[in-house]
Amino acid sequence: MTRIPAIFDESDLERRLLRKGSERRQALDPHCSDCGRTPLAGEVISVFGQRPVCALCRGAHPGEPSAQETVRHVEHGVSVRRALPRVA
Ligand SMILES: [Zn+2]
Repeated sequence: MTRIPAIFDESDLERRLLRKGSERRQALDPHCSDCGRTPLAGEVISVFGQRPVCALCRGAHPGEPSAQETVRHVEHGVSVRRALPRVA
Protein backbone atom coordinates (compact mmCIF):
# COMPACT_ATOMS: atom_id res chain seq x y z
CA MET A 1 0.00 0.00 0.00
CA THR A 2 1.41 3.35 -1.01
CA ARG A 3 1.31 6.16 1.43
CA ILE A 4 0.54 9.72 0.33
CA PRO A 5 3.33 12.00 1.49
CA ALA A 6 2.22 14.80 3.78
CA ILE A 7 2.72 18.17 2.17
CA PHE A 8 1.74 20.13 5.27
CA ASP A 9 1.93 19.02 8.83
CA GLU A 10 -1.07 19.52 11.07
CA SER A 11 0.05 22.80 12.63
CA ASP A 12 0.66 24.35 9.19
CA LEU A 13 -2.85 23.43 8.11
CA GLU A 14 -4.36 24.91 11.29
CA ARG A 15 -2.43 28.12 10.83
CA ARG A 16 -3.43 28.41 7.18
CA LEU A 17 -7.11 27.83 7.95
CA LEU A 18 -7.02 30.33 10.84
CA ARG A 19 -5.31 32.95 8.68
CA LYS A 20 -7.71 32.36 5.79
CA GLY A 21 -10.76 32.77 8.05
CA SER A 22 -9.30 35.85 9.72
CA GLU A 23 -8.50 37.52 6.40
CA ARG A 24 -11.94 36.73 5.03
CA ARG A 25 -13.59 38.23 8.10
CA GLN A 26 -11.41 41.35 7.98
CA ALA A 27 -12.36 41.87 4.34
CA LEU A 28 -16.05 41.79 5.26
CA ASP A 29 -15.80 44.05 8.31
CA PRO A 30 -16.35 47.75 7.72
CA HIS A 31 -13.28 49.95 8.09
CA CYS A 32 -12.96 53.69 8.49
CA SER A 33 -11.49 55.18 5.33
CA ASP A 34 -9.65 57.84 7.36
CA CYS A 35 -8.00 55.94 10.23
CA GLY A 36 -8.51 52.33 9.11
CA ARG A 37 -10.06 51.36 12.44
CA THR A 38 -12.75 48.68 12.61
CA PRO A 39 -15.71 50.30 14.39
CA LEU A 40 -17.27 48.59 17.40
CA ALA A 41 -20.67 46.94 17.32
CA GLY A 42 -23.34 49.57 17.86
CA GLU A 43 -21.15 52.40 16.59
CA VAL A 44 -22.58 54.60 13.83
CA ILE A 45 -20.63 54.86 10.57
CA SER A 46 -21.22 57.92 8.41
CA VAL A 47 -20.81 57.54 4.67
CA PHE A 48 -19.51 60.50 2.64
CA GLY A 49 -19.76 59.60 -1.04
CA GLN A 50 -18.37 56.06 -1.08
CA ARG A 51 -16.14 56.55 1.97
CA PRO A 52 -17.24 55.17 5.35
CA VAL A 53 -16.03 57.25 8.29
CA CYS A 54 -16.07 56.19 11.95
CA ALA A 55 -17.53 58.29 14.77
CA LEU A 56 -14.05 59.46 15.85
CA CYS A 57 -13.19 60.84 12.40
CA ARG A 58 -16.69 62.23 11.74
CA GLY A 59 -15.72 65.71 12.99
CA ALA A 60 -13.17 66.14 10.19
CA HIS A 61 -15.94 65.95 7.57
CA PRO A 62 -18.21 68.98 7.44
CA GLY A 63 -21.73 68.64 6.13
CA GLU A 64 -24.25 65.88 6.24
CA PRO A 65 -23.29 62.31 5.33
CA SER A 66 -25.06 60.60 2.44
CA ALA A 67 -25.89 57.67 4.71
CA GLN A 68 -25.40 56.43 8.25
CA GLU A 69 -25.23 52.81 9.31
CA THR A 70 -25.06 51.15 12.69
CA VAL A 71 -22.39 48.46 12.92
CA ARG A 72 -23.98 45.18 13.83
CA HIS A 73 -22.49 42.38 15.87
CA VAL A 74 -20.59 39.74 13.91
CA GLU A 75 -23.24 37.15 14.72
CA HIS A 76 -26.09 39.26 13.38
CA GLY A 77 -27.98 37.28 10.76
CA VAL A 78 -26.01 34.05 11.20
CA SER A 79 -26.77 33.14 14.81
CA VAL A 80 -29.34 30.52 15.69
CA ARG A 81 -32.19 31.59 17.92
CA ARG A 82 -34.44 29.39 19.94
CA ALA A 83 -37.96 29.47 18.62
CA LEU A 84 -40.68 30.38 21.08
CA PRO A 85 -43.14 27.56 21.79
CA ARG A 86 -46.46 27.98 20.06
CA VAL A 87 -49.42 28.67 22.24
CA ALA A 88 -52.57 26.90 21.09
ZN1 LIG B 1 -11.83 56.75 11.75
